[in-house]
Amino acid sequence: MIIMKFGGSSVANRDQISKVLDIVKTRLDRRPVLICSAHKGITDALINAAKGAVRREYSLPDVIDLQSEIADGLDCPKDLLTELFQEISDLLRGIGLVRELSPRSIDYIASFGERMSVRCIADFFTRQGLKAQAFDIWDLGFTTDEKFGAARPLPGFRDWMQQAFREKVPLNVLPVVTGFIGRSANGEITTLGRNGSDLTATLTGAALDAEEVEIWTDTDGVMTADPSIVPHARNIPRMRFDEAAELAHFGGRVLHPSTLLPAMERNIPVRVLNTNQPNHPGTIIDREGMGNKTGVTSVAYKERQAILTITSTGMLQQAGYLAGVFQVLAKWGVVVDVISTSEISISLSTDRPDLLHQALPELEPFGACQVHTGKTILVVVGPDLSHQKGLGCEILAAAERAGAPIHMISVGLNSINFSIVIDDQDISEVVPILHQSLFE
Ligand code: ASP
Ligand code: MG
Repeated sequence: MIIMKFGGSSVANRDQISKVLDIVKTRLDRRPVLICSAHKGITDALINAAKGAVRREYSLPDVIDLQSEIADGLDCPKDLLTELFQEISDLLRGIGLVRELSPRSIDYIASFGERMSVRCIADFFTRQGLKAQAFDIWDLGFTTDEKFGAARPLPGFRDWMQQAFREKVPLNVLPVVTGFIGRSANGEITTLGRNGSDLTATLTGAALDAEEVEIWTDTDGVMTADPSIVPHARNIPRMRFDEAAELAHFGGRVLHPSTLLPAMERNIPVRVLNTNQPNHPGTIIDREGMGNKTGVTSVAYKERQAILTITSTGMLQQAGYLAGVFQVLAKWGVVVDVISTSEISISLSTDRPDLLHQALPELEPFGACQVHTGKTILVVVGPDLSHQKGLGCEILAAAERAGAPIHMISVGLNSINFSIVIDDQDISEVVPILHQSLFE
């Protein structure tokens, strides 16, 4: 059994969905389970409609027009989505009445995108001769906690999913299952976070012990850099789970950051493929990667970070100073990505300046605190960077050639990444120069 996940651009309209159908037909002997995103643009349109409703701007929301256009393009029956459209209208009216948009209602409204797309796709496939059935994943044992916007399945979900698949998914029918969404034991609708369908795919793969998880997107697998700023970026044929996780976390753009964890835990290879170039081999992500071959795999970056600096002589020869700082950060839920320290100062980065500001009063006793925003973490990832002679020089030289000041540097013994922090505005200069010196 394999999982095939198709993202928003892969299921954007009839042309794309027809490509998906052709691709799925080539793999029927591997008993695919499809995980699908909402059609491109629909999740945003739903969230915007909800924001409009808070401001009491609700005529007939655009999102219903958009979705109807796609469904009509697929020749779906007129009443296929009537109930869901009604539920969306009711919900928007409710949001307009209370004039409040909680994380819970955002998840509820966002959930309609996937619920509508799987119904249209399964209906279209069936009429094209491939018998398919749409499923809301909560009917297949995917029960989550209630962390709206970042929900995760409860510990028993593997057993529940296995049982539900056995009982509810008929043989010889292709299951087309919602990505991104879930439901708690109390019946609250949740989401795994934006772009969460990748994670749904690996979680489902882990639950069902899939042979492989295929993530179908619109690039030739994972690339050596973001092709939008490095036109010569190349495909990476194979990489290790930890390298790919590092890249996804630092904005590799192709995968949701938590995607690799479930696959890593159960050792299920993940293959990233291009719906528009189905014969391209894409990228295989597995335990071995390219082995311990030295070299750099990729360059990635994450913009709009905040840096906290704490300067104090109190740290000199003190045990537990950093522990104290991190205890405060933990209390306020500040997730730290990059850190560098000296005897009298610490710099650390986070993507949540709002939480950092809440923590500040309790950090003041540790020293003079300053928060700087508009920073980018630039990471170079590779399986064995410590043995890559001269790498540090190349990275720093690229920044120097772009005239970009470097605010932080972080690299560890045996680490698979070398990170620097620069200003947001310098990223489009530094990345192409660095890519050229490392790959071209
Ligand atoms: N539809 C959701 C989003 O746009 C989830 C996904 O596409 O993976 O974020
Ligand atoms: Mg995606």
